[in-house]
Parts: sequence; structure tokens; C-alpha cells
Amino acid sequence: MNRTVKIKLENNNDLVNTIKEYSKIKQQICDLGLKKSSFNKNKLHKWTYKKLKKQYPNMPTGILQTARDVASEILKRTKLKKKINGKEYSSMRLDKRNLRVDMLHNKISISSIVGRKKLTFIDNPMTIRYKDCSAIAGTLCFRNNQLYLNVVLEKDNPPKINLGGIKVEDIIGIDRGINNIVVMSNNQFFHSNHLKDVKGKYQYLKKVLQNKGTKSAIRKLQKISRKETRFVSDTNHCLSKAIANSDFKVFSIEALNIKTKKKNGKRFNKKLGGWSYKQFETFLDYKLEALGKILVKVNPKHTSQMCSKCNHIEKANRKGSIFKCVNCGFELHSDLNASRNIANLGKSEISRLQVNQPIVVPQGNYKITNSLVIN
Ligand SMILES: [Zn+2]
Repeated sequence: MNRTVKIKLENNNDLVNTIKEYSKIKQQICDLGLKKSSFNKNKLHKWTYKKLKKQYPNMPTGILQTARDVASEILKRTKLKKKINGKEYSSMRLDKRNLRVDMLHNKISISSIVGRKKLTFIDNPMTIRYKDCSAIAGTLCFRNNQLYLNVVLEKDNPPKINLGGIKVEDIIGIDRGINNIVVMSNNQFFHSNHLKDVKGKYQYLKKVLQNKGTKSAIRKLQKISRKETRFVSDTNHCLSKAIANSDFKVFSIEALNIKTKKKNGKRFNKKLGGWSYKQFETFLDYKLEALGKILVKVNPKHTSQMCSKCNHIEKANRKGSIFKCVNCGFELHSDLNASRNIANLGKSEISRLQVNQPIVVPQGNYKITNSLVIN
């Protein structure tokens, strides 16, 4: 299963010049093919390759060949009847020979007329979603003074989910928080101490550099910001991977858009330096999808105030990290209590689906995620 993702690149004159040369080459091949009335790739190669290699000695051979392939396709499409007027900057087709993309670490390497150009890119919602995909091809475009890479990513078809086969013990609840980045309803805690330390260091350094305000300080600041972003995404990857690979089949999580208003206040942001809980969720979502597991999103209302044993809801039940039910006396770590409530909500959602829905959840469409939201 393939997916194309658009990535905005920093402008780079060498790449822009490569596109310009590529466009000229493509045009030359088109003109010759039209003149000789052929779109046959082998013939076009024989007629043009040596000449072009001499004329454009710095153009990588792989790109020269894709220019020929593209020209041949255009000639075929226009049935050799139309004069082709290519743009000054056509989209440059790339394949595995001349394009390498490391989605996880935001690195791109593209062949150009001055050798390989290495670039980094900033994540967008699409690139975050396809972090564990590999690039098989791409097109480099220069439009309105901006470089873009449309990268074709490859992903295996996810296995189908059999809702009927899910038992209560297959369902786990996940609570996200400040002191513990993740607490799972099977008593597993992922502490935030280390994350807080690292985040704190970055925040301090950023503040110092911001106050300096010099040109070199700003450059350093940008470098540190990129490092920090990578740290967060690497951590979210490891965390979501560990959780997705556990024995459970259904992972119940709070729908963030509702809770953010309450939990993601200034204090919450500051404590973990604006940790990307949403990113964690996105990573978890696609890792589960690939494994044929389900992410259920539940309503976060009362999950921290409700007793996971007797369902009594009261604010006084919770005092910091201690949860003690005023109704039944049940006592537990408050994050663990919340994760159990989240698991219970996930369980009721799954049994509702098992009653109301056909056995198999449709999968394999990238536009539809396997997340289910309960209202
Ligand atoms: Zn209780």
C-alpha cells in the first residue's frame, strides 16, 4: 500500500538548478522523439544518452534516465501529435537511486548536479503519521519560489481486525499525565522524570540564547529546538512501540481534544515543556493499525474523579497522586485509577460494537483510522 506525502523543503539553489537542467534535458528528448516519431525508450536512449551526458556532465545518470522515461511517457500520452512545451521548472522524478528519505529522523538526501544534497525537514501531520514507512520514489517541485518533495511511501497492508475474537482481558486502558507520561491499567508505569530533566535543560538553554539575541545565538537556538523536537519524537516512538507490542489487542485512550482544555493548561504545558501527547497518540495509532490492533478513544469526562471499583464520582475522591473513594474506601494511585476507568470505558465500547456491528472492522484505508471515538 502506497501513500504520497508532501514535504516542504528549505530552498536550495543547487536543487533548483538541478530541476532547471532536468527540465531542459526532458524538453530536448521530447523534441527529438517528436522529430523522429518515436516514444520508444530504448531508441530515445540510443539517440540522446551520449550527447546529453556530454552536454550535462554533472547530471547524475539516474536522473538522466528518469528524464528519458518521463519524456517517453509524455510522447506516448500526446500520441506524437503535439509539440511539447515543458516548463522551466518541471517536477523532477526521483527513484531509489537518487532519493533517500529517513522519515523517522527527518532527513532527506537527493542527488544533484553538485553531488548529494542533504536536507532536513519539519514534520507536518502527514509526515508524523507515516514515520515508519520507507520512501520508494518521489518528485521534486519548485513552485512559487518554494521547493517541495512529494514522496511516495510504502506501507504493508495491515491485517484485518476481528472484533468478535476480542475478550475483556485483551483490552487495556492508557492514562497520559505529567508525573507519569503513561500509566496502563495493568499497573505498568512510564515515569516522566528523565523526560522532565531533558526538557528542562533544553528550556533553560533556549531561554539563555533567547536573551542573548545575537545572530549566532539565534542559529544555536534553532539547532537546539530541532534537537528537542527529535528528542520528543524519538521518545514518543519508543513509548508507543513498547505499548503497541504488548500482548493486548485493544488500547483505550482518552480523546485528547476534549481533555486538552482541562489538562493541557499552562501548568501542564510548562511541567513537561509542551510534551506532544497528540504525537504519541498518532504514533500509537499507526503502530496499532500495522499490527491489526485497535485504538479506542473514550470521553475523558470524570476519568480522574470516578472510582474504578464502585463508579462513584466525586472531586474529593482524588488528592494529588492518591485516589481514595469517599463512598467505598477503595484506595489506589490516582493515575492508575484513571487508567482503569479508561479501560472500563474501552470495554463497554467494544462490547457495544460487538453487538451492533459486523464482525470485521474495515481496514487498510489510510483516510479512515482504526480509532473509534465514543461520545
Ligand atoms: Zn468507590
